[in-house]
Amino acid sequence: MGTREQRRHGRRRQRRRRNYTPLLVLMLVVIAACALLLNSCGKDDDSAQADAGAGDVTENGGVTEPDVDKDSGEDAENGSSTPPEDADNQALWPGYTVKTMTEEDMQVGLQILVSNQHMYDFPEAAESQLVKLVDYKSNSYSSNVNDTLILPVTVEHLNEMLDDYVAQGGATDIMVVSGYRTYDFQQGLFDRNAAKNGLENAKRYVAQAGGSEHHTGYAVDLYSNNNGDYFEGVGEYKWVTDHCHEYGFILRYTEEKEPITMIGPESWHFRYVSVPHSYIIVDNDFCLEEYIDYLCQFPFDGEHLTYTVGDQEYEIYYVEGLEVPVPESGNYTVSGNNVDGFIVTIEK
Ligand SMILES: [Zn+2]
Repeated sequence: MGTREQRRHGRRRQRRRRNYTPLLVLMLVVIAACALLLNSCGKDDDSAQADAGAGDVTENGGVTEPDVDKDSGEDAENGSSTPPEDADNQALWPGYTVKTMTEEDMQVGLQILVSNQHMYDFPEAAESQLVKLVDYKSNSYSSNVNDTLILPVTVEHLNEMLDDYVAQGGATDIMVVSGYRTYDFQQGLFDRNAAKNGLENAKRYVAQAGGSEHHTGYAVDLYSNNNGDYFEGVGEYKWVTDHCHEYGFILRYTEEKEPITMIGPESWHFRYVSVPHSYIIVDNDFCLEEYIDYLCQFPFDGEHLTYTVGDQEYEIYYVEGLEVPVPESGNYTVSGNNVDGFIVTIEK
């Protein structure tokens, strides 16, 4: 009986094989034909166009200003030229060209997420942009040391924010006590805090070396001289906390989000992410971790996120991986998310 069963099974399997083989062959033929067709579309129509498009793309990595001219053609770095196979994408997505990024690029840009869970490797593209805060800062605030480094885009918007704050009657005693930090500096900070307050406290308030936002040049810690303490965002200082998103900053660590950020509340730590991202984060009561997750709902080949600030409309999409479609012209920024891909922000 067992043998008969086996024979029956064997026959069934044979029958199945006989029945399905032609279908499988047909499917393979169809797939092969489609692949050939797509390939030839790209090669015939758009390879020249794709190459021209690549030359027009500005390599900004999100480090430079969103409102500077991005299509001036001043860049055209060899590293960003579109490889031939991207001609296919060019044909499928009119008006876009594909920019091939690197793993290092994923750590560069205005919206990078840096934390103990998403460490930072100090990419040269960002490190080389650092400037001395004292050389660029306005007179509306002070700096506690002369050699604090920061990214130009951060200090520019910090100036705007604190100039407006002082102009509307705010205090003039705000001091920047921390900007960019090296790996070694952060390690020393963590070790000293752990020695003084215990390891648990250090873990709650001080990021590990490589996991601090201060490595990026997009974060500042504020202090108020009058209080002789870290900025608390209360009383007249509340204006800064309430308005920071209008200047592209977010209050990065709040009590409410500690379970997600894994860092205790810091009323003094502001992070530049740029407009409109700061607005969207505040509107939705996100922390940066939640926002990076949220943007995954807006992939390039799906519905894009649109947001308007004043007269300016923005379009935002997320791209997983290193092949990033970007507009052939116009103003846009590309930022790594330091997780798995890139965020493209277009000024419409
Ligand atoms: Zn800080």
